[in-house]
Amino acid sequence: MRAVDILEKRRLGLELSSEEISFFIKGYVNDSIPDYQASAFLMSCCFNKLTPRETRDLTEVMRTSGDTIEFGNKIEGYTVDKHSTGGVGDKTTLVLGPLVAACGLKVAKMSGRGLGHTGGTLDKLEAIEGLSTELSGDHFLDIVNDIGIAVCGQTGNIVPADKKLYALRDVTATVEDTSLIAASIMSKKLAISNQGLVLDVKTGEGAFMKTLDGAVDLARCMVEIGQLMHRDVIAMVTEMGIPLGRTIGNSLEVLEAIETLQGKGPEDLVKLSCELGGRLLRLGGLVSDNKSGFQKILASIEDGSGLAKLEQMVEAQGGRLESLHNLEISSKSVDVKAKTASYIYSMNALSFGNGAMKLGAGRACKEDKVDFTVGLLIHKKVGDYVDRGESLCTIYYNDDAQLEEVKDQIYNAYQFCSEFQPKPKIVLAEVDDKGSRFY
Ligand code: URA
Repeated sequence: MRAVDILEKRRLGLELSSEEISFFIKGYVNDSIPDYQASAFLMSCCFNKLTPRETRDLTEVMRTSGDTIEFGNKIEGYTVDKHSTGGVGDKTTLVLGPLVAACGLKVAKMSGRGLGHTGGTLDKLEAIEGLSTELSGDHFLDIVNDIGIAVCGQTGNIVPADKKLYALRDVTATVEDTSLIAASIMSKKLAISNQGLVLDVKTGEGAFMKTLDGAVDLARCMVEIGQLMHRDVIAMVTEMGIPLGRTIGNSLEVLEAIETLQGKGPEDLVKLSCELGGRLLRLGGLVSDNKSGFQKILASIEDGSGLAKLEQMVEAQGGRLESLHNLEISSKSVDVKAKTASYIYSMNALSFGNGAMKLGAGRACKEDKVDFTVGLLIHKKVGDYVDRGESLCTIYYNDDAQLEEVKDQIYNAYQFCSEFQPKPKIVLAEVDDKGSRFY
């Protein structure tokens, strides 16, 4: 077999065999196929779409390109994972994970770091002093067995094909193809042998998928891959035109997650956590329908068992409880104020995410160090009324080099109007083994 013949078939729009896909991806991982041929392959996928069968084969060869974590009979109970395609202010894992574990499922979660304008769960957790996300396979499984939840980073050799391909996609303008995104995400999710998976596919200005149709297509593609690989998968397409909750930035987001587990969370975050978590409970057979799942998750907020589970997880991963409840927020702050009395018409999540990143809450490139103490506390969101001079958002900062720019960026991220605006819906669509539904 030759890479050039495979590329020619792709150019002509002919379907590749499983063997050809395997040969190409394995060759790229072991360096016998160079970047320039892999780049041609990736670009061809953007113009001549991979078929569902090719997408599944690509996912499988990527999934098995390195180590996989097989639970076998090492974990007792139904094991679940949740994945978000990335958003602004998305601290859902910190809320939903402990709640689902408190209800009795086993949450074995591998999470990522933030990149660009989107945040990552690992960075948020590392804001807690002492907490380690670098867990050996056995330690990870022991914690999941003992307390029901552990969150770790991607270990050395899990899905090396994605590490190489993702880096190449980033510099060849080939990130935004549905099959490539689906194979990238699902190869990593399926490399851990969880039984149930709920996917939170974000759509809107702050997400990868800007349009609802594009997000639903991605959701369908990932659900199909999961089903073909005999996993229970549900995807929910959710709003990311505006930031989720009221905080952006690592320590601020952990504090908001704690408040949510104490029953004082913002409506959108509570609803999203209950909808996603409720579906995991249904997949795991703890409830018979989504509504009961929603109520059971809500009850774990009300009785404090979700917060207790988060505390157990933090301690099991080496974090200090005192630090969890006393996270440091920068002492320097400034308010972005409304210039006229009005209603909030819209907010641009991407501008909020980029603003927080400029403060140091995220990374522009992988080597950047994150400042856990900075970020944004949002006081006014779409549907709220604001008086002239009232604060829209508080900026917590340490370095004032880009402060004026961030202030302008946040103010300009808001659009105002004179009439009341309804709050946007959080769940927009759902895809599962029965098909897709729009809400
Ligand atoms: N997240 C991933 O892991 N891969 C993609 O391609 C896009 C988002």
